[in-house]
Amino acid sequence: MNLIFLGPPGAGKGTQAKILEERYGIAQISTGDMLRAEVKAGSEIGLQAKAVMESGALVSDDIIIRMLASRISRADCAKGFILDGFPRTVPQALALDSMLTEQNRPLDAVIELKVDDAALVDRIAGRYTCAKCGAGYHDSFHQPAAAGVCDKCGGTEFIRRADDNRETVGARLQAYHQQTAPILPHYAAQGRLHSVDGMADMAEVTRQLIAVLDSVKRA
Ligand code: ADP
Ligand code: AMP
Repeated sequence: MNLIFLGPPGAGKGTQAKILEERYGIAQISTGDMLRAEVKAGSEIGLQAKAVMESGALVSDDIIIRMLASRISRADCAKGFILDGFPRTVPQALALDSMLTEQNRPLDAVIELKVDDAALVDRIAGRYTCAKCGAGYHDSFHQPAAAGVCDKCGGTEFIRRADDNRETVGARLQAYHQQTAPILPHYAAQGRLHSVDGMADMAEVTRQLIAVLDSVKRA
């Protein structure tokens, strides 16, 4: 299955993609995670992207499209992928359409996670992840079962993103509304767009997503 998860920062795309990649045996591809790895490695792309990411703006389409094209040709995408954080602009959506048409890999569904802007600020400000395995947590909504110990790998070190602060959230939400939301009608016109209530609790969002994906698989 080839899927796109769309939605503003903090909507729950990464949380749900990590759950569903196991269930369906498909790869989660987060362009944000890929860029953070480039920044950490100090690569050419990382050097170009760092300040842009910290400001909450979007990295250039050129860089992102090249990065994504090489990522979806890797072996772990053979059974499909969940794109999380891509496409984020109309040119990225059009480039993806051409790539997938060329490779004869149609999209099965584009799912929009809908969350109010007011809720996103708290979601982003409270987010943190395990430094060892990347499992996601939240100060209020999802804490590890044993305080300070990752449920998944037992790691005891956690990290917070440089751009997950109340000051940068405004710019990131603005980028979403101005540059990303305009791609929703593109996928609606293709008959591929489904909306899910991302305000519900995590387990309920997962149930709603599975219902959509099962209906897509049966069609
Ligand atoms: P995105 O990948 O869309 O930016 P995340 O999946 O990282 O968003 O979620 C942002 C934060 O909100 C995380 O800390 C996560 O634990 C929390 N979160 C995710 N889904 C929900 C939900 N349905 N209700 C409350 N908190 C959630
Ligand atoms: P995310 O982890 O998806 O919240 O992305 C973090 C940051 O990485 C964004 O605020 C952008 O600066 C950059 N980024 C991630 N994905 C893209 C993309 N598809 N296009 C442009 N910039 C991106």
